[in-house]
Amino acid sequence: MFSKILIANRGEIAVRVIKTCRRMGIKTVVVYSEADADSMAVELADETVFIGPAPASESYLVAEKIIQACKDTGAEAVHPGFGFLSEKAEFAQLCAGEGIVFIGPNPGAISAMGDKIESKKFAQKAGVSCVPGHIGEIDDTAHAVKISEEIGYPVMIKASAGGGGKGIRVAHNRRDVEEGFPAVRAEAKGAFGDDRIFIEKFIVDPRHIEIQVLGDKHGNVVHLFERECSIQRRNQKVIEEAPSPLLDETTRAAMGAQAVALAQAVNYDSAGTVEFVAGQDKSFYFLEMNTRLQVEHPVTELITGLDLVEQMIRSAYGEALQFSQKDLKINGWAIESRIYAEDPYRKFLPSIGRLVRYDPPVEGDHAGYVVRNDAGVREGDEISMFYDPMISKLCTWAPTREGAIDGMSRALEDFHIEGLGQNIPFLAAVMDHPRFRSGKLATSFIAEEYPEGFLGAPPSDAAFDVLTAAACAMHQIQIRRQESTRRTDWVVIAGSRQRRVSLAATADELTITLTDEDRALTLSDLAWRPGQALLRGRLDGIAFTVTVRPAAEGYVIRYRATTLKVMVLSPRSAELHTKLPERKAADTSKMIISPMPGLVVSMDVALGQQVREGEVVCVIEAMKMQNIIRAERDGVVKTVSAKSGDSVAADEVLVEFA
Ligand code: ADP
Ligand code: ADP
Ligand code: MG
Repeated sequence: MFSKILIANRGEIAVRVIKTCRRMGIKTVVVYSEADADSMAVELADETVFIGPAPASESYLVAEKIIQACKDTGAEAVHPGFGFLSEKAEFAQLCAGEGIVFIGPNPGAISAMGDKIESKKFAQKAGVSCVPGHIGEIDDTAHAVKISEEIGYPVMIKASAGGGGKGIRVAHNRRDVEEGFPAVRAEAKGAFGDDRIFIEKFIVDPRHIEIQVLGDKHGNVVHLFERECSIQRRNQKVIEEAPSPLLDETTRAAMGAQAVALAQAVNYDSAGTVEFVAGQDKSFYFLEMNTRLQVEHPVTELITGLDLVEQMIRSAYGEALQFSQKDLKINGWAIESRIYAEDPYRKFLPSIGRLVRYDPPVEGDHAGYVVRNDAGVREGDEISMFYDPMISKLCTWAPTREGAIDGMSRALEDFHIEGLGQNIPFLAAVMDHPRFRSGKLATSFIAEEYPEGFLGAPPSDAAFDVLTAAACAMHQIQIRRQESTRRTDWVVIAGSRQRRVSLAATADELTITLTDEDRALTLSDLAWRPGQALLRGRLDGIAFTVTVRPAAEGYVIRYRATTLKVMVLSPRSAELHTKLPERKAADTSKMIISPMPGLVVSMDVALGQQVREGEVVCVIEAMKMQNIIRAERDGVVKTVSAKSGDSVAADEVLVEFA
C-alpha cells in the first residue's frame, strides 16, 4: 500500500480523506493557501505544504504547485477530493508523467466524461437513455432558437463544461432562448473558460437520482445503488438520501446496469457517479457523469458499510475489488443535510463570517439512529468568501426512512452555530414538511413549497407545547431566585398565541397544567442554566433541544423551524400587554440594503435618476457569485452611498429613494 498520500484539497473533504488514510496507516500531506493556514485539515495532517494566496486560481488550482509538493514530501499519490483539480484530465495526465498516482479514474475516462456533450455521445453508444436534445455545439442565438423549436419547449440551455449548478438555464419560449443563450454562454466563458453550449429537453417535474459506481484496474465495475438529490436550490443539492423513495427493484437494477455499462465503456477504474433526471413515472435520462468522489458520498457509505475513499485508494494502488454486485445490499436509510453559511430568511444568500459558536451533535449511535458529521471547521474558524460556503455535512442513518428523518430532526436541533447565517432552521423545516416525509420529491420542491422564500414555520401545536415548556422552565428558574414569588398561575404568550398555565415544580420535574385545555405537560431532564444558548429536556418523555436567548420581558426561542418570542407573564401583565400597541419596524421600503457582506461590482444608478421597479440598482459579489440587486418599486434616487469597488457589510444602506 502507499505509505504517503498528498491531499490536493481543503476543508471538510481534506479532513475526510485524512481520516481514512489514518485508519489505513498511510501518512498524509495537506497543501494549504494563506486563508487555510490555521485550518483543521492543516492541524490533522502529518505534513503540510504552503502553496500560495487564498484565491484558488493561485493555489489549489495550480497543478505545478501540487506536483512540486508531492516531490518535496515524497508523496506517492494524490487525492484530489472534489472541485478544484478533481476532474481535470490534464492534471491526472501530469501526475502520471511524474510517476505520481492520481487517486481517481484514468485520464481517458475523465476527459471522456468531463464534458457534457462528449459524455452524452459515449452514453448513447453504451445504450444509456439520454435526455432528448441536440448532442452537439450550438453556434449562435439563431441556431439555439432553431434547435429549441425542434426539441420543443421547455428546453434547458447548458454549458458543456458546466458544474456546481452553474451555466444552466430553462427556456419556456423563443424570448427565453434569445435572452438565455448569450447569458449562459457568457457565464460559461467566465466560470469555466469554455463557452460551448448545448440544448436539451427540460424534463418537467423531475427528480435527481444518481448511481454510485466503483471500478478497479482489472475491468471490474459495480454500482453501489442510488442517491436521490432532488432537494435543490439554484440547481444545487441541499439534502440527499439513499436509497431513493421513488425506485423499485426493477428500476434500480435498470439504472444500475446502465451506469455500469457507461463506466465500462470508458474503462472506469475508481469511484464515480452517473447522474440521471427521473420522471415521477420512473422514466430516467442520463445527465452527466462526475468522475470523482461526490459531496454526498457519505449516504452511500452509510447504507453499504463501505468506505469510498478507501476503495478509491485501493483501486488506484492496483488492487482488485473484493466484492461483486451480488455481494452488495442496501442496509437501512441515510440522509445528508448540507449545513451552509447562508441566510435562509434572505433567499439563501451567502452569509460568511466567523463561527463564534460551533457545537455539532454527538456522532455515533443514538437511540434508534446514527449520526455522522463531516466537517473541516472548529469553533472560532472563519467561513471565508474564497471557497464553497459549506460548513459541514450532517448525516443520519436508521433502519427506515422515517427513522432517518426523525434522527435528522433531532440532530439538527442539537446543532448549534452562532456568528453567521446558517440554514439549519430551513433544513429542520424540510424534515418536518409532510411532502418531504411522504417522499413525493422533485427538484422544484424548494421553489414550490417556499415560493416567498423561507420565512420560518408558524408554530404547530407540538411546537407551541415545546415553546411553552421551555419558556416556563426558564421562568421557573428565574422566579425561584425571587423567594417572594408564590404565584403559580401565569400566562404564556408565544407570537399571537396565548395560554393560561399553572406551574408546579419538584426536584426533577416541572408540571405545566394548561388551565383551559384540561391537560398537563411534564418537563423532565432539564439541562439549562441562565446564559446558556441551548436548552435540553424531555417533554412528556420525548427529548428535545431548543436555542434560547433572553429578550425584553421574555425569551426568543427557536424550536426546529419555528422562532418566536415567548413571554411568561402574570395574568395582569398579560392583560396589559395585549393592550399595548404593536411597535412598528423601521420603514426600509425606500432603501436598497446590502443583503450580504461583499464587494460592489457595479453601481448602476446615479443621484436624481428615475428608477423603475425591477431595474438593476447594483451588483454585489460574494462567494464568487454575482448578486443583482433590483429596485422593488419606482422612485427617484436621493442618496448613493457605495460605488464600484467598495466593500459593504450586510444591512448597509446602499441607495435611498426620495
Ligand atoms: P456533487 O455533484 O458532488 O454533489 P456539487 O455539484 O455541489 O456536488 O459540486 C461539488 C463541488 O465541486 C462543489 O464545491 C462545487 O462548487 C464544485 N464544482 C463542481 N463542478 C465544478 C466546476 N466545473 N467548476 C468549479 N467548481 C465545481
Ligand atoms: P451540474 O454539472 O451543474 O451538476 P447537471 O447537468 O447535473 O449540472 O444539472 C444540475 C441540476 O439541474 C440537476 O440536478 C437537475 O436538477 C437540473 N437539470 C439538469 N438538466 C435537466 C433537464 N434536462 N431537465 C430538468 N432538470 C434538469
Ligand atoms: Mg450534476
